Formats: sequence, C-alpha cells, structure tokens
Amino acid sequence: MAAEADLTAARPVVFRHGTVLTMDDAHRIERDADVLIEGERITAVGRNLPVPEGTVEIDASGGVVMPGMIDTHRHMWQTAMRGYGADWTLTQYFVWNYLQWGKSFRPEDIYAGNLLSAIEAIDAGVTTTVDWSHNLHTMEHADAAVDALTEVPGRFVFGYGNIQAAPWEWSALPEFRDFVSRRFSGGGTDMLGFQMAFDIPLDSPDFREKAAFEVARELGAPVTTHAGVRGATGDNGIRLMYEHGFMTPATIYVHAASLSPDSYHRIAATGGHASVSTESECSAGQGYPPTWKLREHGIGISLSMDTSVWWSADLFSAMRATLSADRAREHLEAHNRDETVTHHKLRAEQVVDWATRGGARALGLDSVVGSLEPGKKADVVLIKNDASPAMFPLLNQYGHVVFQAGRGDVHTVVVNGRVVKHDHRLVGVDLGKARAVVGQTVEYLKGALGPQAWDEGMHPEIPEVRVIDNPYTYTYTQETDQA
Ligand SMILES: [Zn+2]
Repeated sequence: MAAEADLTAARPVVFRHGTVLTMDDAHRIERDADVLIEGERITAVGRNLPVPEGTVEIDASGGVVMPGMIDTHRHMWQTAMRGYGADWTLTQYFVWNYLQWGKSFRPEDIYAGNLLSAIEAIDAGVTTTVDWSHNLHTMEHADAAVDALTEVPGRFVFGYGNIQAAPWEWSALPEFRDFVSRRFSGGGTDMLGFQMAFDIPLDSPDFREKAAFEVARELGAPVTTHAGVRGATGDNGIRLMYEHGFMTPATIYVHAASLSPDSYHRIAATGGHASVSTESECSAGQGYPPTWKLREHGIGISLSMDTSVWWSADLFSAMRATLSADRAREHLEAHNRDETVTHHKLRAEQVVDWATRGGARALGLDSVVGSLEPGKKADVVLIKNDASPAMFPLLNQYGHVVFQAGRGDVHTVVVNGRVVKHDHRLVGVDLGKARAVVGQTVEYLKGALGPQAWDEGMHPEIPEVRVIDNPYTYTYTQETDQA
C-alpha cells in the first residue's frame, strides 16, 4: 500500500491490473489494465504500461477503475442539515427554507455545509460537483461558500443564487459584479467554474427574470434553472426562455420533469442538458423522474442528488434509482397497454455514462474530464473492496457499478492528478474541521429555531391513512368463540 507521503508528493501515479471503464466514445473496457497519471493529466491507458521512475503504484486488481463521477446540481449549503428533512415533501422544504428558516443561515453556516458537502463528494468518488448555492443573501455568504470549495481538493462549479431575493434584483447589484470579478475573473477555471442559478416561477407574466439572463449572457455564465417542477416551474418558463433566446447548449434544466412535449422539443433543439435527481423526484414530487421522456426526445442527461437534507450524496444511489425509475415507468406504460416488456431499453452502461460523460457534457467540460483517455485531466475513481462479499465475481462491469457497488467501495479517488482518497481513507483533507464547524451550525440553528420548531420541522404531521375495508377479513363473533 502506498504511504501517504508518497501520495502527496506530486509523483506520477499508476493504477495497475484493474478493469478499466474508459467511458470513451466507444465505451471501451480494458481488462487487467493500467491507468497512468502524470501531473494533472492521464498520459496512458493500457496493459503493462512502462512508467517513470518514482511512480506511485496502486493495485487495482479485483477493482473497477472509472472516471470520477459528476453531480450537476447539489445545494451544498444544506449538508449542514443532513437528513433533517428525510420525511419532507417539496412543499415542506419550500416552507422551511424559503419562508421560515433559510434566512437564519449565517455565512459561517453556508461555509460549514459547503465544506462537509465538498468533502463528502470526493469521498464518494464525485470529483466534480455543481454547488447550486441559492441562499446567498449577502456577499459574505457568497464568499464563505466559495472559501469552502477552495479548501477541498475537488472540482466544483459554483452556481450563484439567492432564494431570498428575485434574480433581477440580486444580479443587478454592483457587489454581485464585484464578487464575480474578484472570485471568477475570466469566467473561472476548470477546477472552479461559474454559473448563475435561478428559476422562473409558473406565474411570471412580465418575465422580469429576463434581466438576470442578460447579466448571465454578458458575464458568459451558463444558467442552471429548476425547470419542470410541478407546482413551481413549468412550460411557461421554457417558452419565455426560448422566445427571448436564452436557451443555449450551456443551459442546464434541473429535474425537467412534468414538462410538455413542446418544452422537451425546445430543450432538445437548443442543445441544453437535463440534470435528473431521481431520489429527489421520487420523494419530493417535482414529477416522475423524466429520463424515460428525455431519452425519447434526445435530450442530454446528467445526474444529480439535489440535497443532503433528504438524500444520499453519492451517485451510486443516483444511478441505481435512475435505472430503476426508468424501467419501472417502462413496465408501467407497457402494462397500461396490456403489453409486457421483454427487453429493457435502458442499460446500466448508459446510466454510468450519464454519471460521468453526461455531466461533463452538461458542464461544457467534456474535453477536460468525464472519461479515462490520454490527455484528459485525471479525475479517476477506483472501486475496490477486498473485504466485501459484493465485489466478486465481477462479471458485468456496468451492472456491478450500478447495482452492486456503493460509496463504501470507493477505494481511491484522484482529482486533477492529485490523490485525495486512498485505501478508503481521505488524504490531505481535514474532516475534523468540517465536523467542528457543522456541529457549531447545528447548535446555532437549534437555538435559533427553538426546540419545538426544530422538532416539528423534522417530523411533519402524518396525514391519516385509512386502511381499505377487506371483504375477506375474518372476524370473531360470539358464536365462533363459543364453538
Ligand atoms: Zn434543487
């Protein structure tokens, strides 16, 4: 096993004897193969590679080497409230965050959530994450969010947003312009990119969001927008964007559920990408996870987890949920036609593509990351767990990644050529600091809400569930008792 000092010494790294899912255009799989990383880039993929002297060797035998996964929509600040809203609906989420308590979050709370979320991402093999940061009610909040991202050796795209003000308000502030030029001069880097994050509510008669789109265009910033969220955003927003020329190949449509065929056609025709958060759509109610529709319309698909306030922050869960939801819908649609699905259209292989290349395409980073090919930046994940009975036999590689592996099987993670996790342990990451600052945030928020609101927020009322009368129920009568 490589020593930590070797891993952090910026020496070349080679993964040896792994099953390599290159995720290149041909989806080539190399067995018993090596991946060589020199500096920030992958320099070779193949068998028995010669390597420079001093190269750190990582034994990948029995494991799968694949590109780092990419999450295109995560509200990272909410990770400080991990699991709190597990039983929420979208309505309860909106009430808690937008109306009641979102403004309670201080800059240090945004920092704490982002820090933990960023570490959690790389630990789970998610090497690129879009921080859909929509609680930036002051510039101190914005700086705190970016500070956390720059402390963690992952690849991030910062999506600036603010649910506490309208997008045409916050995007017009001089301090917003100042923030962008201070933190993202030249539009950011491939390690820390920049987007603008805002939505168009269902009732937007005069399309005041137009001003924010114009700012984004002027800054050269892609827009990421929750689109097709039942009861919140929908076809009208898509139409307005289309008619004003704001739908571009760089636009990301988050959820993209509950839209009409016409809206899907507009997204496909303008080359935008969807960010599907299947665990979220299943639980919160934005609409049925839409991959079965998006596939029919030829829309580019990426995956995301949305928020740790409900769901798990690893893309194994996202891949598994997405494949299951897509197939469930395919069966259901067929059953409604009194037909049987004998061959699945969607394969595990395609879902792995969405978790890697799909994200890279959505973010305009496809020439940089998303596959294991010489010349690309080295974002690499080794899935290997010799102590697990679920890691052999390794027969169907894509199926294994989607349905068998989990975040606990992430053995080694490399981001931009740097080893950030090895042998199941984070390297050069201060988890203790994240634990401390998140602990402070939780204590503060508990105090701000008070015990009753804290408890009620976590445990929403359960509607009455009526059990249907069962005609076959056997009930005792006096006669049967006496018999
Ligand atoms: Zn979201």
